[in-house]
Amino acid sequence: MIPMVDLKQQYQDLKHEIDQGIDEALTNCHFILGPNVSAFESEAKEYLGTDFAIGCASGTDALHLALLANGVGPGDEVITTAFTFIATAEAIAYVGATPVFVDICPDTFNIDLDLVEQAITSATKAILPVHLFGQPVDMIRLQALCEDRGLLLIEDCAQSFGSKVKGKMTGSYGDCGCYSFFPSKNLGCYGDGGMITTNSEQVAERLNMLRNHGSKERYHHDIIGFNSRLDEIQAVVLRAKLNHIDNYNHKRYKVAQQYNLLLAKTKVITPHEDKVGNHVFHQYTTLMPNREKVMQHLQQQGISCAVYYPIPLHQQKVFGGTYTPSLPVTEDIASRCLSLPIYPELESQQIERIVNAVLEALDE
Ligand SMILES: *Cc1c(COP(=O)(O)O)cnc(C)c1O
Repeated sequence: MIPMVDLKQQYQDLKHEIDQGIDEALTNCHFILGPNVSAFESEAKEYLGTDFAIGCASGTDALHLALLANGVGPGDEVITTAFTFIATAEAIAYVGATPVFVDICPDTFNIDLDLVEQAITSATKAILPVHLFGQPVDMIRLQALCEDRGLLLIEDCAQSFGSKVKGKMTGSYGDCGCYSFFPSKNLGCYGDGGMITTNSEQVAERLNMLRNHGSKERYHHDIIGFNSRLDEIQAVVLRAKLNHIDNYNHKRYKVAQQYNLLLAKTKVITPHEDKVGNHVFHQYTTLMPNREKVMQHLQQQGISCAVYYPIPLHQQKVFGGTYTPSLPVTEDIASRCLSLPIYPELESQQIERIVNAVLEALDE
């Protein structure tokens, strides 16, 4: 059986370090906002090149708190993509703002910046790009656009930890970068976890309060906040894995290269790299002819595959009531995309087996 992601091997490789760290944390009994959380925050901001990094309970919370800390609220429009996980748009709805979905580029599946520009109105407050599947959006162009039009820029980096544009990390361009440490992400913990980066001291202070009941000083509550803290045990896991993230991302890239080579000159359309930055291949997402047949065949062969995302957000029931323009590129890609297994530990022979099974299904 080849899974989409194999977390067991990575744990075996880091078991000694992780077990020891967790053991120490348990002995210490400083469970909430303890030394590992602050150490991880400072190691992460160092790695990402931002002034501040604030841990929180999930990637969804990271987006929610980032929008709140930047003052996005009722009456505001936030331009984003419909070809993403629901959390991107949920966060916009949580703060009472309206998600405005624009179409994507047919090759990278990232938000189309020409269409972003056309969608700006007097109510637009922020742009929320997603670095989808690990490929960065052109942040040089988008940052310039946001500066020019006086808009906030909040980056969804849930799938792009460690990817750069022109030598600078995704998540360091915007007013905030929002990260998820869900176990299957490129940098994942062993439960839920998230983080927000920023270069603004004022925003960082607000985020620190928002994640901890609106409090700067214990039992003094200045604003309504939340219980959304990264937990100490997860911080231990993240500190161990952060040391290896470049290696993990490099190995993912190698896997993608082997797939590209083996699938060249077939009917399968391999992921397009536009080279505005470096792709960290959170997913290896193809456009697959005869998708149903291929999925069925892979399943019979004990090989996992998945459709990210089968129903774009503008067609979800929850948004359909108020928002129903058609997004032809998004809808077309959603009907044809198929993600194949990718993770740092995936072996060369397994990749060959997967590709052979795909080609068998396509009679190639
Ligand atoms: C995973 C993910 C999120 C949400 O992260 P959670 O930690 O699961 O809350 C948000 N946006 C995107 C694009 C994601 O892939």
